[in-house]
Amino acid sequence: MERHVFVSTPERSIREAFTEASSFLESCGVMEPQHNAKLLLEHVLGLTGTAYYMALPDSFPADRRDAWEAAVNQKGNGVPAQYIIGEQEFYGLTYEVTPAVLIPRPETELLIEAVLEQAGSARGLTTLDIGTGSGVIAVTLALKSQDWRVLASDISPEALEVARRNAKRLGANVEFRLGNLLEPFTGLAPDIIVSNPPYIPAEDIEGLQPEVRDHEPRTALDGGADGLNPYRIMMEQLSLLAAPPRIIAFELGMGQADAVADLLRSAGHWERIITVPDLAGIDRHVLGISL
Ligand code: GLN
Repeated sequence: MERHVFVSTPERSIREAFTEASSFLESCGVMEPQHNAKLLLEHVLGLTGTAYYMALPDSFPADRRDAWEAAVNQKGNGVPAQYIIGEQEFYGLTYEVTPAVLIPRPETELLIEAVLEQAGSARGLTTLDIGTGSGVIAVTLALKSQDWRVLASDISPEALEVARRNAKRLGANVEFRLGNLLEPFTGLAPDIIVSNPPYIPAEDIEGLQPEVRDHEPRTALDGGADGLNPYRIMMEQLSLLAAPPRIIAFELGMGQADAVADLLRSAGHWERIITVPDLAGIDRHVLGISL
């Protein structure tokens, strides 16, 4: 990969630093160069909102120059801004993200809403978030439904550490277990299973945006030959549970809704199978419900 090197001009205003970085990022082919320059600048200077705009005429602090160059260089070479900043917002809260976890996507908020809608006002439900990554699904559900018991698994110990820190920082009561999909929950009888597993077909990985392909964890992306391995494995692993859940809710990739709905149908545990489109109109979530 071609490498671009950013060296900032000393003794300039913050506004000039912004302009300089925007042009650099643009020359690297970064999308939304100005938005990214602003995000990184706010991060490096520890300023947000009005304070950032107020500071624009000030001279750029010399002691932040190294951090600034490092951040702009990372971005110019394709690192997602969220990994540089170490944060991503989800459902109104700020989560820590590291390259050990997938950056949470806004459509996953709709998966959570669909689950909450189907669960209605039911109390005391046991809910599993399978492949929790940064922990966004488990933490959001635990905070929204304080009387639920929420458990979450991930196959990556590093991801689980990030999720644990997020739960702690946001005050969510989630039990984390290391292991492959449903395996750590053997013998349990959950009411709800939610999962946004890796679903990219192996041969499509090379064609992904470089920011995703080269920086987000492969384990969180690769769903095997047709991308559906994690769903199939979870259907098989249902037999490890004391009873199948009354609600199962999956996020999936473009064009996978029919196949995943069929998998749920053939499992025979759910009376209704519903598909939920995302904001772009793509069938993004499939739920099995038996109430
Ligand atoms: N469950 C996490 C999320 O929704 C992680 C998903 C993943 O790594 N495939 O963001």
